[in-house]
Amino acid sequence: MSHDLNLSRERMVKNQLIARGIKDERVLQVMGKIPRHLFIEDALSGEAYNDHPVPIGERQTISQPYIVALMTEALELKGNENALEIGTGSGYQTAILAGLCSRVYTIERIKSLLGNARKLLSQLGYDNILFKTFDGTLGWKEYAPFDAIMVTAGAPSLTEPLIDQLADDGRMIIPVGDRYSQELIKVIRKGKSLEQESLGGCRFVNLIGVHGWSD
Ligand code: SAM
Repeated sequence: MSHDLNLSRERMVKNQLIARGIKDERVLQVMGKIPRHLFIEDALSGEAYNDHPVPIGERQTISQPYIVALMTEALELKGNENALEIGTGSGYQTAILAGLCSRVYTIERIKSLLGNARKLLSQLGYDNILFKTFDGTLGWKEYAPFDAIMVTAGAPSLTEPLIDQLADDGRMIIPVGDRYSQELIKVIRKGKSLEQESLGGCRFVNLIGVHGWSD
């Protein structure tokens, strides 16, 4: 069983990530190691390494592996960053960030999801993650500014408080659009100005909160 899962994970990295242009060795290594199937309930864990999102309960999903890799690579992480993640969900993306940064601050609005993610990540031995059940559209002021910000739910706009909490030369990846489809935007802060680049179309669950969509 575990041999099959290791093989599925190897294939995921080769066929879904490398074949589509993901090049960052650290991202490929981390995604090749993290047991994605543990972040998905048993009944669906056979789908963990497939090329699509998978439900994680509470009408939420764990994103498709390729989108996770694309967003992570775009953050250009070197290892010494403080990163903020909005939308902990299953905790899979959190684990990836924790393997690539110095510290991860992760916020989830749904308490049960955050509880499950916290438990699993602690069982897996991560000790560089701070968790909070909160409206992530407000960011996490006490620990700002952040070198990297990853938003894993679709926002109506760039989300002002998150922009304000981005460090100089910091990178933020955020899906922006309407409730049904978005564009993945990379924002880089250069002093008082912002550079923006589109990484292509995507489809995320809604970012719900004061600076997001209504529930
Ligand atoms: N990155 C996650 C993973 O690896 O499993 C998947 C995240 S899922 C696509 C988006 C998550 O964002 C959901 O769990 C949802 O509850 C959460 N979310 C939506 N609005 C939020 C907000 N304002 N603050 C924090 N989390 C939010």
